[in-house]
Amino acid sequence: MELSDDMTPFEAVNYFFDRAANIDRLSDNACGVLSGTYRELRVQVPVRRDDGSVTVVYGYRVQHNGARGPYKGGIRYHPTADIEEVRALASLMTWKTALVGVPFGGAKGGIQVDPSQLSKAELERMTRRYTDQISHIIGPSRDIPAPDMNTNAQTMSWILDQYGRKYGHTTSIVTGKPVALGGSYGRDAATGRGCVFVMDEALQDVGIDPDGATVAIQGFGNVGSWAARLAADAGYRVIAVSDVEGGIHAPGGLDVPAVMSHARESGSVVGAPGTEPISNHELLELECDVLMPAALGEVITSTNADRVRARVVIEAANHPVTPVADQILADNQVLVVPDILANAGGVTVSYFEWVQNNQEIAWDEADVNSRLENRMRKAYQECRDFMTTYDEARTMREAAFALAVSRVVEAAELRGYL
Ligand code: GLU
Repeated sequence: MELSDDMTPFEAVNYFFDRAANIDRLSDNACGVLSGTYRELRVQVPVRRDDGSVTVVYGYRVQHNGARGPYKGGIRYHPTADIEEVRALASLMTWKTALVGVPFGGAKGGIQVDPSQLSKAELERMTRRYTDQISHIIGPSRDIPAPDMNTNAQTMSWILDQYGRKYGHTTSIVTGKPVALGGSYGRDAATGRGCVFVMDEALQDVGIDPDGATVAIQGFGNVGSWAARLAADAGYRVIAVSDVEGGIHAPGGLDVPAVMSHARESGSVVGAPGTEPISNHELLELECDVLMPAALGEVITSTNADRVRARVVIEAANHPVTPVADQILADNQVLVVPDILANAGGVTVSYFEWVQNNQEIAWDEADVNSRLENRMRKAYQECRDFMTTYDEARTMREAAFALAVSRVVEAAELRGYL
């Protein structure tokens, strides 16, 4: 396939898969199975508006591969969440769960909608309707949804409640629940926390002292804001953050708790005291040690990859770097820690939540965090060791995909699926 920024998200993920298939010397049978999805459900979701009218939106649930266990992955509400994007994200989940060794397959859901246009009551009605429509293919040992972009613990509570009306109360039907409904301590912070662990490992690898290292973070949602806070706590200098309204820059380091309270009060990080405004584009090109895209996909492309001045890119978002850009960054000696590794902390603690639910026990937060740290550091080290051992794996992404793909193939073969 010709490399270009015009590849669809699923073509882009399959481009990375193909590289891994070459490294792992996969059979044509295996390639055929793993480059497609197992099941794709598209549902019409009529949303009753507060004024009595009905708005029709479409939702998806895509199950990519279930060789290693029940399908697992989040649900996002976003105008770009079409079937192609949801497919790509479902396949990323297959590789992500395999890479961190949690016993799940990969899935993703989405509703193609701008949730900022809906009231809370409308969001609730939409979520409940969508839950009804996908309920026959999810289940605690079939497919377990979780939060993603623009969904959160409240969304999971509605799904849990709606599913329970039909099938009886089922705590482990979703992860990322509030603690009051069986959620895990530490789940909310888990993706951002995992990013900080791998950032630490990556900086050691490139010989930069994490203490005082400069970090620019695009995105200040769940992942970006937790990563900023935990990075600052760990001694990094967070010099820039942004959200949909724009970004802020403070070369001496942001006061992250102050930025968080400014964002809570005003609705945006923009205008936080003691900061200079910058655009989302400028943030990506700042002079810094670490760049962390933690918002949308495909933000680093052939047009700006050459201008990235960070030494390390931590992919907190899913699919933030297009394949062409990935090559440019590699040529420029930028170490890219790929999404399936960098942001796997979320699904790792989702797994812990599911385990706790199944055993009807609750671990304390310190326990959750130390288990998360062990898994994230181990996964990073495995990728790094693979990359240094095998010449064919030229980047950490190629190493991560090769490792993940080989694990999925092993499970699929053992089941007799391949
Ligand atoms: N949506 C998150 C992700 O992309 C978490 C998925 C989960 O916890 O199942 O990894």
